[in-house]
Amino acid sequence: MLLDVLDGALDLLLGGHCVGCERPGRVLCACCAAALPTTGRPAWPTPTPAGLAPPWAADEYTGTVRAMVLAHKEHRVLALARPLARLLATAVETAGLDGPIVLVPVPSRPAVVRARGHDPTRSVTARAARLLHAPAVPLLRTRAGLVDQAGLDAGQRAANLAGSLHVPSAGLRRLARTRPRARLIVCDDVITSGATAREAQRALESVGLSVGAIAAVAATRRISAGPALSPAPASD
Ligand SMILES: [Zn+2]
Repeated sequence: MLLDVLDGALDLLLGGHCVGCERPGRVLCACCAAALPTTGRPAWPTPTPAGLAPPWAADEYTGTVRAMVLAHKEHRVLALARPLARLLATAVETAGLDGPIVLVPVPSRPAVVRARGHDPTRSVTARAARLLHAPAVPLLRTRAGLVDQAGLDAGQRAANLAGSLHVPSAGLRRLARTRPRARLIVCDDVITSGATAREAQRALESVGLSVGAIAAVAATRRISAGPALSPAPASD
């Protein structure tokens, strides 16, 4: 009752509505929040980039989760960072890595960050790290020449991304000093072809770091709902 009144007041003040069901009020209503997944799943893309670390996602990139990702990323609905971080943390937890972990966000191009006014993957990863009591270290940077991935097929994405990420030495030194034995988890909002995650993994491994898993809020293809700890590539 109180929440209903609060939602109504928020709607009057802000003109807000739930991104999942359009109900006036909070940006994510209690019903849609309660329906979000609480366990992650394997999220192998098809085809799987060779050598990709086991990828995990909280959900398919559809429905409420897709609306949350887009509203946060493109429309700066920053109140969604918290539930998105919970989903990312769920994916990380399901990866089940032993020992210390470090979350490494996939970087956006600086021009994109400027245009959006924020770096959604970096902020969601930082929040997820706090939930997991693990550090988030933005080790990766983009090189010049990287273009928008939208509209590219898997082969074009791979070519666009090859060598596009790197680890600046200052970040590497900081990580080596604080967590020399940590396994890294590459964190992104959505796993599509896996090419971005694979490039992030390559860049980290090229400087001697160990990538244990890929974690994302969502994955675009239908992902297995099978046993949570069986990271075998899909055969289809
Ligand atoms: Zn809703």
